[in-house]
Amino acid sequence: MLKILSYIFRNGIATVANPCPPLEEDADGMPALTENSCSGTGCNECATACPTDAIEVSNEDGVGRVSLDLGACIGCQLCIDICPTGTIVRNRSTRLAKKQRDDLILTNHESVLANSLKRSYEADVKNKIRNIFGRSLHVRVVSTGCSACDLEIGACGNPVFDLERFGVHIVASPRFADVLLVTGPVGKGMRDSLLRCYAAMPEPKIVVAAGSCSITGGVHKNGYAEANGVDKILPVSVYIPGCPPHPWSIIHGILLGMGKVQS
Ligand code: SF4
Ligand code: SF4
Repeated sequence: MLKILSYIFRNGIATVANPCPPLEEDADGMPALTENSCSGTGCNECATACPTDAIEVSNEDGVGRVSLDLGACIGCQLCIDICPTGTIVRNRSTRLAKKQRDDLILTNHESVLANSLKRSYEADVKNKIRNIFGRSLHVRVVSTGCSACDLEIGACGNPVFDLERFGVHIVASPRFADVLLVTGPVGKGMRDSLLRCYAAMPEPKIVVAAGSCSITGGVHKNGYAEANGVDKILPVSVYIPGCPPHPWSIIHGILLGMGKVQS
């Protein structure tokens, strides 16, 4: 015991005390939009560069209107590096999860922002009744993709992130699960397995989509496997963008589903 105590005093504790801090300065993160003026379709560089068609640019009264879907974004940074006006920048926040799909659509258009805030508020009210999972949660992970998201989910359990301190446990059987955490784009081949897993879970239960593939299909969107995300076949309560999402973003999404944090 003395040896253990002396080790702790010498080395400190690995677990980060305050969850979901911003990313380090040298990390890239996901894109965010600023209020800097956009050159509109006269430029269109970001939309042209985006490999997942996550960006739409239009002109309105001589002003460039940008809309960027974080649910389709793979965080490649091309739009950020190419934008000449600083309209698209790096976002170092790890608190990216949303309860409403539409709230993942970033825009520099005020009226859309207002609608989005209104929807968030309505969703929060609705979700208060769902917050029966507030104390502990059992999660069954189903991977339908490349496994990068699954590696980050695995990292959530290490001593730095320590997911279990929030009362969240990854379980092997859907029979014990409250949450179906889905990664990957859910192609045709995985649909039946996923539906069977969901059916085996007891009520009440929620579905969380982790990673841009599970939200929109990501780079697989509209491909031959019809892999366009999990909400095409199951109701999703929380969306966690990223390719793959940072472990803090995954933890933020799970805590959001539990009602322990706000989006
Ligand atoms: S960072 Fe996202 S939105 Fe920007 S170009 Fe890459 S995939 Fe598209
Ligand atoms: S956001 Fe930037 S890159 Fe995209 S159209 Fe506007 S000015 Fe051009």
